[in-house]
Amino acid sequence: MKGIFPIDKFERIQTPFYYYDTELLRATLRAINAEVLKHDGFVVHYAVKANANPKVLRIIREAGLGADCVSGGEIEAALKAGFPTNKIVYAGVGKSDWEIELGLDNDIFAFNVESIPELEVINELASQKGKTARIALRINPNVGAHTHANITTGLAENKFGIAMRDMETVIERAAEMQHVKFVGLHFHIGSQILDMGDFEALCNRINELQTQLESHRIRVENINVGGGLGIDYQHPNRVSIPDFKAYFDTYAKKLKLRTGQTLHFELGRAVVAQCGSLIARTLYIKEGAVKKFCIIDAGMTDLIRPALYQAYHKIENISSDLPMETYDVVGPICESSDVFAKQVDLNTTRRGDLIAIRSAGAYGEIMASQYNCRKLPQGYVIDEL
Ligand SMILES: *Cc1c(COP(=O)(O)O)cnc(C)c1O
Repeated sequence: MKGIFPIDKFERIQTPFYYYDTELLRATLRAINAEVLKHDGFVVHYAVKANANPKVLRIIREAGLGADCVSGGEIEAALKAGFPTNKIVYAGVGKSDWEIELGLDNDIFAFNVESIPELEVINELASQKGKTARIALRINPNVGAHTHANITTGLAENKFGIAMRDMETVIERAAEMQHVKFVGLHFHIGSQILDMGDFEALCNRINELQTQLESHRIRVENINVGGGLGIDYQHPNRVSIPDFKAYFDTYAKKLKLRTGQTLHFELGRAVVAQCGSLIARTLYIKEGAVKKFCIIDAGMTDLIRPALYQAYHKIENISSDLPMETYDVVGPICESSDVFAKQVDLNTTRRGDLIAIRSAGAYGEIMASQYNCRKLPQGYVIDEL
């Protein structure tokens, strides 16, 4: 055992694979629940898109969180993991008819609606089933977030949500429809946000919108502020649990909730990122013309974040105690972007050594592909090793 990993057990498993530290996951969920209990009306959903591994989902469901889904497949995964239907919310800019019908058949808590055409289709499909769909409107708050451009979602230029100037028209349209019920407003400004000032800006915007709606006697039951809390990719051991206190306190202090209103959160990355690692085996050490390459058997097909978002993940050789050397850690895929890190220090690495790519529990396994006809990586939790 080096550090936190049961290496002797890893030796028996085909690499590459994901390893989930379920103790850390449970501790993270306890930390969330401890903070949420301090605030009246706070409700947390887990954003299933971060990681839908059934073993991970089950633990999150057991902790009492709801499920935030962005596709019919995710609704199915949430149902399979036992999430109660009245704790499932469904967002997405392009919902297919079968996905809407799945939500209707299961009487989910709310559809987060992103346009008038979508509202009309939900009304129509609900009418065919003799049902009333609970809908929240996803509003684009035009609030920026200090994060990677590919993961901001709350700017006017992004495809997500309904423009603020259309908000009241859409609420009025919904009120005229027989088979939808307006139950709330929904927002989501982006991901990997560490500056509480960004969430504060969202609170200020929501406060303005609420005042505006109240002047037209429109009451909102639920406010959903989405997710986006970031994690510390540099220090997975030292900061293994995000600062949930600072996060929830920001909303408690800055968002003016009306009496009886509930405040919903949809956290993905902050729940699962730190508990997961991608474990790979070193295939070759190649001495290039100007540097050394550590070629491992995991590639961008297993973890695409570095190639897609230039994301940083801490990398460790968990088999070696030898002195440090500098490597480019790369995968076997036929793409120049198949690089996990350039010029990183690892304990001197040899063929066969196990490499851990840390903080990979969110947007890792779930984004894996079969490009190059590769097998999808499996995910393991400690109890089954
Ligand atoms: C992706 C997403 C989330 C979760 O984002 P994280 O950054 O993982 O917390 C929450 N809500 C919606 C609507 C999303 O699309």
